[in-house]
Amino acid sequence: MAAQHSFQIIESHKGSVTGEPLHALYQLLEPEALFLELEKILFQMLPVCHMTFQSSRPPFHYEHGKNGKEEKAFILMHQGKSLGVLKLQTMNPLCNEDTMLLHEIMTQLIYPLKNALKYKQALLESRKDPLTDIGNRYAWQESYPREFFSAKRYHHPLSLILMDLDRFKVLNDTKGHLAGDKVIQAVGLSLSKLCRGSDSVYRIGGEEFMILCPYANQEGAYTLAERMRSHIQALEVPYHQDRLRVTISCGIATLCNKDTPESLFEKADGALYQAKRQGKNKIILDEDY
Ligand code: GH3
Ligand code: MG
Ligand code: MG
Repeated sequence: MAAQHSFQIIESHKGSVTGEPLHALYQLLEPEALFLELEKILFQMLPVCHMTFQSSRPPFHYEHGKNGKEEKAFILMHQGKSLGVLKLQTMNPLCNEDTMLLHEIMTQLIYPLKNALKYKQALLESRKDPLTDIGNRYAWQESYPREFFSAKRYHHPLSLILMDLDRFKVLNDTKGHLAGDKVIQAVGLSLSKLCRGSDSVYRIGGEEFMILCPYANQEGAYTLAERMRSHIQALEVPYHQDRLRVTISCGIATLCNKDTPESLFEKADGALYQAKRQGKNKIILDEDY
């Protein structure tokens, strides 16, 4: 365990001299790439052997290197707000000259770091549905092919649960659009709470949700969908004097050899259509499995 010193606060300031290697930091937009480059610079210029960085917004963690004996911790600040904490370990205490150089590098890091974290936060937000805080259609379109081809390559199961709120237009028409929004929010929250860690929930349309379940076979997906269906059926959403109720219909499709991403999705869609036709508040399994 390296001996730790107190946190040093680093604020951005104008007029710092940017050395040639530090210019590279300004070219990098992704925090991962930025810290890789910073690590290269620090490990080359100073006897630094280990680096960690942690930020909370966006949540980001970087850690690399071999443990040393001394630790220095920096709170990196921009306009009075903390960007995150950077900890560096060295094999030996730094001499005065190295300490000054390190301080200069930390100061130079602030602007590129602020930009990289802002970029990452924007990317995260662009994949989130603002009403429910779960993945949006864009996030789904990004994740689905990746999970699909991973399941095929490594021969693990994959199931889709496509859900649609029942008679939602009536709820909107009778209770108002805001009431409808409250219900969508409550459903989104419930669905994400009921999922396992490996599953993910997306709002792919107005009142349509998709649960992507890697590692779930048909039986596992059915169990999850039934848990969700019965939970939503019992859910009461407070809205003014009302307690709003809703049910969901689900279509489940499970990957088989001949599937493409499109055919698997269509199977889930077909099963959902059947669930609606058969009276709603139902789960239908695609039979082609
Ligand atoms: P079914 O049981 O067949 O699914 O009928 P439905 O009424 O749920 O389906 P329909 O497609 O006829 O209507 C869906 C409604 O969902 C219509 C639309 O106004 C509403 N909707 C879509 N997005 C939102 C939203 O973000 N907020 C609210 N409040 N309503 C939405
Ligand atoms: Mg509907
Ligand atoms: Mg719909």
